[in-house]
Amino acid sequence: MKKIVILLLIASAFSCKNTQSASPKDNSDPTKYMNSITAKDLKKMLYVVASDEMEGRETGSKGQKKAGLYMIEQYKQNKISFPKGATDYYQHIPASFLNARRNENLPDSENIWAYIEGSEKPDEVLVISAHYDHVGIKNGDIYNGADDDGSGTVAVMEIAKAFAKAKKEGHGPKRSILFLHVTGEEHGLHGSRYYSENPLFPIANTITDINIDMIGRRDVEHANTNNYVYVIGADRLSSELHNTVVTQNNKYIKMDLDFKFNDPKDPNHFYERSDHYNFAKHGIPAVFFFNGVHEDYHQKGDEPQKIEYDALAKRAQLAFVVAWDLANRENRPVVDKK
Ligand SMILES: [Zn+2]
Repeated sequence: MKKIVILLLIASAFSCKNTQSASPKDNSDPTKYMNSITAKDLKKMLYVVASDEMEGRETGSKGQKKAGLYMIEQYKQNKISFPKGATDYYQHIPASFLNARRNENLPDSENIWAYIEGSEKPDEVLVISAHYDHVGIKNGDIYNGADDDGSGTVAVMEIAKAFAKAKKEGHGPKRSILFLHVTGEEHGLHGSRYYSENPLFPIANTITDINIDMIGRRDVEHANTNNYVYVIGADRLSSELHNTVVTQNNKYIKMDLDFKFNDPKDPNHFYERSDHYNFAKHGIPAVFFFNGVHEDYHQKGDEPQKIEYDALAKRAQLAFVVAWDLANRENRPVVDKK
């Protein structure tokens, strides 16, 4: 009796294993991995990234480098490597580049990158970006930039962790994904411009940039709900990218997508004001997720305790399911507009 039971257990263990490996590339449902993106994780990381210890993450500062080391440590813990073709997690940017347009005496600084290789089309690369610099210390006050862009920074890290978990369980992305934390954004989108002019992977093989900048708060237009996000730029180059955002949101997230700032005539011109623009100008379809501005925008009150972590998680999940579709779909989004 005992023996038979053991044999049956062994047999069933084998059959489970076989069923699992029979369809390793069925990536139709991202729900499990989407749900691994949590408010709790994001909060834990943001309280570090936007702590006083990081001194406002001014480009090239000691505090920014310290935040960078923390981010790299998280990637290492989650066993997510730096990209193929790089020697470490840094893309070094010389001061000469940062000060070329306007001399602000910025020191050398670094973009930080991590990477998950695609299983079927490894040469096609999706970029998920967020800037990790902020404006530093002014008159003795530390500007922690929890929303701008600590929120995007931790969202990118959490999205990477979700893809790593999927890969570990046999559901890795078919295309490669570059997780790109750019520097120098507040001084004029320098880090993303540097990457776009010195890309690790050819621009022609870069299928889309998903950029996340400020997704942890709400603006006065949405005083009664945080269940929204502004979607900017998706349809400027690719109707398919726009459709993917809409479809994935309807299917998994059901958040109000606000396209107000996508109007090319909108006087705020947010489309030109964050890092996705440096991809779009090279013809790469790009989408920007954003919560709008609020009273603490570029103020010392942009603190982690004011972040709405449920909204941050939901918006990060939206970026994730869009990324999931782009990384796994049959064809990359077609550029059908100029
Ligand atoms: Zn920003």
